[in-house]
Amino acid sequence: MDVNALKAEFPILHQNVNGHPLVYLDNAATSQKPRSVIEAVKRYYEWDNANVHRGVHTLGSRATDAYEGAREKVARFLNAASSREIIFNRGTTAGLNLVASGYARRVLKEGDEIVITPMEHHSNLIPWQQAAKATGATLKYIPLQPDGTISLADVEKTITPRTKLVSVAYVSNVLGTVNPIAKIAEIAHRNGAVIVVDGAQSTPHLKVDVRALDVDFYAFSGHKMCAPTGIGALYGKAELLERMEPTEYGGEMIDFVELYDSTWKEIPWKFEGGTPIIAGAVGLGAAIDFLESVGLDAIDRHEKRLVQYALDRLSSIEGITVYGPREERAGLVTFTLGDIHPHDIATVLDAEGIAIRAGHHCCQPLMRWLNVSATARASFYLYNTEQDVDRLADALIKAKEFFGYESA
Ligand code: PMP
Repeated sequence: MDVNALKAEFPILHQNVNGHPLVYLDNAATSQKPRSVIEAVKRYYEWDNANVHRGVHTLGSRATDAYEGAREKVARFLNAASSREIIFNRGTTAGLNLVASGYARRVLKEGDEIVITPMEHHSNLIPWQQAAKATGATLKYIPLQPDGTISLADVEKTITPRTKLVSVAYVSNVLGTVNPIAKIAEIAHRNGAVIVVDGAQSTPHLKVDVRALDVDFYAFSGHKMCAPTGIGALYGKAELLERMEPTEYGGEMIDFVELYDSTWKEIPWKFEGGTPIIAGAVGLGAAIDFLESVGLDAIDRHEKRLVQYALDRLSSIEGITVYGPREERAGLVTFTLGDIHPHDIATVLDAEGIAIRAGHHCCQPLMRWLNVSATARASFYLYNTEQDVDRLADALIKAKEFFGYESA
């Protein structure tokens, strides 16, 4: 993988910020976009823009082909059995909420259990809290090990025949933990539960095969994988989508409408009420082409190397605490530096042209478990280099001096 050649494809990365060349290390929040994606969206608006599924005119059929072609690409990218199993939406949050409202709230009853983990993003936690409250089901947590992983023994203990739904992140956006999804899916299925996966942090970085993992639902966001904001998708096994109810009603999703009753289109269109995110889907298709041309395995290997380098460099700075497992982790490093507030660290780094994230990362229960109110996080993508990590480490040493940090 020629990282510098890849980086050249991302116009935004070639600028100075506060007088320094930009080092963008906030990829877990959102990734930057390559020229091919920007061009695909531009070309769509300059040549093909029209509404889909209705116009008999040429632009209408081009737009429909582009939109449905993007669905085919997503299906192939995730190795879904059919593009009928791909619902376009705004992203991970929308996908998880659709499963919680359209499936869980209709299927769960009092006494049933929903199982999640304390490392979940709020988007994979609050929908289940609300579904549990609405149905009388109980929300249960697979406990975390001290290193921020979960043990299969605990998975076996927590999931029972009363469990009807399990929802877990493939990759934690704070700890970098990569959860053993295939094994959790097997345990869930053995107990008669469905498994939902939050794929926000996995889909951009590693090869995902929903059939090999044997997951029932899988949600992800385009904006973290080189696509525009505002587009994502939910994968669901066809037989489950058939049983799931739409949560948005209106144009586009209907078959016949009478004065007092209506029928829906087939899956996946019954879940796509209103004019869809056509340009976003085109951008997502172009992002998939781009990522596949680089190779997901190559991206994964590059980031794993980079994160080990970052762990080595950062751990050598006295006063740094790095969270999450040391081995087998995704390309991000979450840390605190003595008692310096993470927002202050991020501010000093920004003055050096380095973008990182500071805060609770939409994981307040996890912050409580880590016993911190906030952390700093540097997250990598295919265009980041060892020099970026060096700039980060040097700036952290500078921040320490700036705040007069002294070790205890
Ligand atoms: N889950 C995880 C693990 C995430 O990192 C994020 C994004 N920070 C989300 C869910 C939500 O994604 P979105 O805001 O794109 O819906």
